[in-house]
Amino acid sequence: MLSFQDARKKIIATVRALRPPLVSETIELSRASGRVLAEPVTADRDYPPFDRSIRDGFAVRAHDARPGATLRCIGEIRAGSGFDGAVGPGECVQIMTGAAVPKGADAVVMIEHVSVDGDRVMFSRPTTRGQSIVPRGNEARAGQQLLAPGMRLGYAEMGLAGQVGKHRINVYRRPQAAILSTGDEVVDISVTPGPLQVRNGNSVALEALVRLAGAEGESIGNAPDEKKELRRYMERGLEADLLIISGGVSMGKYDLVEMVLGELGVEFAFDSVAIRPGRPAVFGVCRGKPVFGLPGNPVSTMVTFELFVTPAIDILSGAEPHPLPIFRARLAHAVHERGELTHFLPARMETSRGEPEVTVLPWQGSGDVVTMAQSNAFLIVSPDQLDWEAGEMALVLPRRGLL
Ligand code: AMP
Ligand code: MG
Repeated sequence: MLSFQDARKKIIATVRALRPPLVSETIELSRASGRVLAEPVTADRDYPPFDRSIRDGFAVRAHDARPGATLRCIGEIRAGSGFDGAVGPGECVQIMTGAAVPKGADAVVMIEHVSVDGDRVMFSRPTTRGQSIVPRGNEARAGQQLLAPGMRLGYAEMGLAGQVGKHRINVYRRPQAAILSTGDEVVDISVTPGPLQVRNGNSVALEALVRLAGAEGESIGNAPDEKKELRRYMERGLEADLLIISGGVSMGKYDLVEMVLGELGVEFAFDSVAIRPGRPAVFGVCRGKPVFGLPGNPVSTMVTFELFVTPAIDILSGAEPHPLPIFRARLAHAVHERGELTHFLPARMETSRGEPEVTVLPWQGSGDVVTMAQSNAFLIVSPDQLDWEAGEMALVLPRRGLL
């Protein structure tokens, strides 16, 4: 059976091959957070645009400002205003953070390191040339590319784009995902379920996941476990850029999703993956659109989304697929698993004491969304090491957006 890494590779290769031409639009930068750049962002001028003081203090000639020296202060420079004169021998100028260093000066001494008496400023430490000054152009040169097309706009990228004057910016349209849940027992979240029914938690979870992944997702409803109806819903879902289905992909008599997808002409890239939860996950292409059939147990739905849908959304968004942020954390306790599958166990990672420590949460299996909501990560236990002692460094996948 396919490993989750190989399943991801298949998805990435398949979606890359089918991706339609990207559509971009120019929008207000303030609305572009999380979007993928369709144009480069370049420096409109040197950064900093002048030799900038990075301290409140005194602009000096470094050679003059020796321990024991006293200099005469001949003026002040505020951020945003210039200084007409120049700092001569024996002189200094009071300067604020962000202001332009005046002519003649080649260092700034922070105010905490001098004593001031009227216009006399006393120095007690050696001063080196260039200290507390960022020379013009040291962060970026005019015309230099700062952000490349294909980058996602996080908060730092937003700040940088704003800094260089990109108040309107060309970004790719977000892909539109159709979310379809299935199951005779599933009712809308606004409905009081009968004793044997469940509310459609998956569709809202998937909408949230789709948004976190950078796409727009809309639930198109819940299809009963009936071929004709399933097909009708799927046809509608295929109008979107990708279709994400939950439920109906297991071995049960009424798990019809895979069969109906087959009848619709889906070319399957895989129909199971060696993971638990999530083994029956299905991925294929129909009419040029990626289609995911995720198992309906809520934890399975969430795990398989994180593993498999995310890279597809990245590619459809015009971005490089983000590698899974898997890293090591110290196990708080021993773990013993069995079998041929790679386990993704809801876990809690504690990062407040420095080195991350991970604790698996006791859970009732893949239907246990109560425990899932207390987790912030998954512990990954693969068949090449199923037995772990407390204190060993094990693999952890943080839950998207939480760590
Ligand atoms: P399935 O994958 O269709 O076999 O469903 C597996 C389990 O997940 C069953 O217990 C379903 O009731 C539950 N389930 C399926 N779809 C949903 C949904 N949309 N929201 C919450 N639970 C679901
Ligand atoms: Mg079902």
